[in-house]
Amino acid sequence: MENLKNHSLIKRINRSKILNTIRQNPMVARSQIADRTELDKKSITNFVTELMADGLVEEAGRREGASGRPFTMLRFCEKYVVGIYIGPHFTRGVLLDLYGTIVSSYEEEYPSLPSRETVLKTLENVYTRLTFGNNAVYGVGICLPGIIDLDGELVIESVNLPSLNGMDYRQAFGDAIRHPFFVEEESAAIALGEKWFGVGRHYDDFICVELSGGIGSGIIYQRRLFKGAGKYAGELGHVVVHPNGKPCRCGNRGCLEAYASETAILPELNQFLDKPLSRLAYYEPGTLPDAELARIRDHLADEVGRGLAAVVNILCPRVIILTGTIPDIFGEELIGPIKESVENACLKGCFEHTNIYISRLELLDALGAATLPLADIFEVPDYFYV
Ligand SMILES: [Zn+2]
Repeated sequence: MENLKNHSLIKRINRSKILNTIRQNPMVARSQIADRTELDKKSITNFVTELMADGLVEEAGRREGASGRPFTMLRFCEKYVVGIYIGPHFTRGVLLDLYGTIVSSYEEEYPSLPSRETVLKTLENVYTRLTFGNNAVYGVGICLPGIIDLDGELVIESVNLPSLNGMDYRQAFGDAIRHPFFVEEESAAIALGEKWFGVGRHYDDFICVELSGGIGSGIIYQRRLFKGAGKYAGELGHVVVHPNGKPCRCGNRGCLEAYASETAILPELNQFLDKPLSRLAYYEPGTLPDAELARIRDHLADEVGRGLAAVVNILCPRVIILTGTIPDIFGEELIGPIKESVENACLKGCFEHTNIYISRLELLDALGAATLPLADIFEVPDYFYV
């Protein structure tokens, strides 16, 4: 029994290796796959026959090799995955081919604190718009903010989308989506998006920190998502940076989120603006005097640095990637003061090897969601990660 299990596991890993070779080398011959995976040619032939029968891979004509002998080239079939991010202000989605290229994207906004009905109707609209007339969809990934029982079926609590609290998401999403779907918490999905498509492609271990309405992080360790025992690891927003400080929405005091989230800094920005903003995304560059903007930025960076120092002391990450509305507004100029603050607050040896980057990926939340069905094709949980 054990041998059989090992056999089928090895088979799955080898299949993944072949699929990833095709993903990284569009138009590749069987013999080239053999060179790159070190699998024997007979196995490759068998696997490719199987992948063709599964509708994932197809032959794409012949090309002459260096020796003058023609090779039959392989590529992915026209098959797609969908990624959908359900956010506090909008739901948006992307359609990707199996190479990870964005084929189309679509977004619908709604007012703050949308009803459950509005959220689910928008989800259905976005999904329908992206998949209309397209039967070749492998699966759909969905991510949303909040504490979600990923082994069960409930959204336990979503501070940004409170109408979803207690919702049976498997049933609710199942009513809106006709394809197999996968669900993940927003910050974790964003880290996965960076792992597949961003700076994270180049690192085995990194932390992706989202600074938006809330603050969260996704930890990638050895190319896989680190979730911890309760599976909620990464709640960076609730690291205490000021004991007995400002109240936080979690019920505690002095959390990073109470000082450095969009919710925390909007009132600071608004006091200098004629028309107060309801969201940071509406900020137009230049409307605030440079000196004021710099003061808000440096103060914010100092708080973020204190929070990050806790993580850096424990994990000594090689790379920290910042995403979200706050880096979108303040840009690269955030990095210097954040580094300074982390340096002041943590052990020197821990931070020496850490680099901080700002994510350059557009639509990262939806892209992150799309990695969930991609992982189902290209990875073998616990054994093989992209
Ligand atoms: Zn808190």
